[in-house]
Amino acid sequence: MTRLLDNHLAGRWQAGHDAGAPLFDPVLGTELARVSGAGLDLAEGYAFARAQGGDALRALTYAQRSAQLARIAEVLQEKRDAWYDIALQNSGTTRNDSAVDIDGAIYTLGQYARWGAKLGAARCLADGDPVKLGRDGSFQSGHFLVPQRGIALLVNAFNFPAWGLWEKAAPALLSGVPVVVKPATATAWLTQQMVAAVIEAGVLPPGALSIVCGRPDGLIEALAPFDLVSFTGSADTARAICAHENVLRHAIRVNAETDSLNSALLGPDAAPGSDAFALMVKEVVREMTVKSGQKCTAIRRVLVPRERAAAATEAIAAALAAVKVGNPRNDAVRMGALASRAQLAAVRAGLAALQSEAQLAWAGDDADLVDADPKVAACVMPHLLKVDDGDASKLVHDVEVFGPVATVVPYRDAGHAFTLARRGYGSLVASLFTDDAAFAARAAAQMAHAHGRLHVVTPAVGKTHTGHGNVMPMSLHGGPGRAGGGEELGGLRALAFYHQRSAVQAPPEVLAKLAEGAAPWQGGTG
Ligand code: NAP
Repeated sequence: MTRLLDNHLAGRWQAGHDAGAPLFDPVLGTELARVSGAGLDLAEGYAFARAQGGDALRALTYAQRSAQLARIAEVLQEKRDAWYDIALQNSGTTRNDSAVDIDGAIYTLGQYARWGAKLGAARCLADGDPVKLGRDGSFQSGHFLVPQRGIALLVNAFNFPAWGLWEKAAPALLSGVPVVVKPATATAWLTQQMVAAVIEAGVLPPGALSIVCGRPDGLIEALAPFDLVSFTGSADTARAICAHENVLRHAIRVNAETDSLNSALLGPDAAPGSDAFALMVKEVVREMTVKSGQKCTAIRRVLVPRERAAAATEAIAAALAAVKVGNPRNDAVRMGALASRAQLAAVRAGLAALQSEAQLAWAGDDADLVDADPKVAACVMPHLLKVDDGDASKLVHDVEVFGPVATVVPYRDAGHAFTLARRGYGSLVASLFTDDAAFAARAAAQMAHAHGRLHVVTPAVGKTHTGHGNVMPMSLHGGPGRAGGGEELGGLRALAFYHQRSAVQAPPEVLAKLAEGAAPWQGGTG
């Protein structure tokens, strides 16, 4: 049996009380380690985090906590090679794909450290200036954001074991809120090792950073008033957490990032041969293949003018055909494995469901896998599907296949395209490919209510745009409806989730005293 990875709770390393769940190399099929959270005293661990970690963090200023984030980024940077090695083994990703997770995590930590330093010696945030409540101004109302006095329980998905932890922990710790992370079991190794490195480096006070692995009993039951949950994963699990009796009883704040049927929209102006058309093809192929399509933001639906559907399908298929899939240890391979055989089965089931109403336009052949045995590896070739009638199709707008799969959907006119994009009933992101600024602005205004982010690519930004699926800390991450209704990132605004906003109604001299210890809450994006 492989080694059991410890949990860090109540300021000490603790082994789970059973043999644990195995973690595998998704290419070779070998067992790598085990995780277990069985028998952990979560109530004790959460209480320790609230009291020891929370008190110690809140005793610091934003600037001091931002220095801790900067130090965490340094600690992670120093061991970068080790993280890449773990990702290669446990996530089956190529070096470029591992970078999205690992370097993305370090970059996001660094960015929050830079923003936090600007908040200086403050210990709370002032939301605007006080306003008069009476005529003479002798009694006023000022809004302040104060750090919440609970833990932030981070329940994460398997696809981003590094970034998924740190993109949430950065705003939480900067806010003065201790973190307990529960990584997804399949890829928990990287998260656990990063937490171990940061704890070993002594960057944070005891109780500020804890990790519980596997599926410990009472994860949600042990939450208490003022605790917070930030969840990433499937809509079903998000629903179960939000509907949990303990969460309802204490009105525990939950931020949920769930699944999403994101789209790319080719503008009516973008004919085959145009730069906008080529940029759309490049981005769709990138989104389908980066991390083998296991990104919550990946393009699942490609909306194109009806008369250009055939050309778009052909161009995307031709580019996909050049992508080598298989064992990322082979330098020729551009797309590695899915995270597990369970994910492979889920992708195959999703493909079968989609093909009940969509036609297969192009699929790679498993015989072309490089250095990977299809009977063992969790590798799947890209699949491009197409439908003739996007209105009649239901599953295309509803079934998220979490792999290298997208469907080309034709539209009649701009209004029809916007309607089809909205059929995702709330998505994280849609991208627009056009050389028509007026159309792009109209589309963004029409589609924004159903999307957390709109990514407009014109030929002028063909080389400089940050990528449809790339989540930058400067921009909001999250989306309405099906996407979970959450908001993460987006500059210092993300700190709001970890603070309580409170109105203080008082004479001006009291508000002035309070404001001395507050930094202006920019509420913006840095
Ligand atoms: P999942 O089953 O919902 O798992 C997500 C996390 O929840 C894992 O840590 C899982 O632990 C845990 N979990 C599952 N059931 C639980 C319960 N009853 N109580 C407490 N925790 C529980 O999701 P998944 O299928 O592995 O992840 C893929 C999904 O995540 C995709 O649909 C994708 O779209 C979505 N996703 C969304 C975003 C975003 O930002 N919007 C980002 C990435 C992924 P175990 O691993 O131990 O089961």
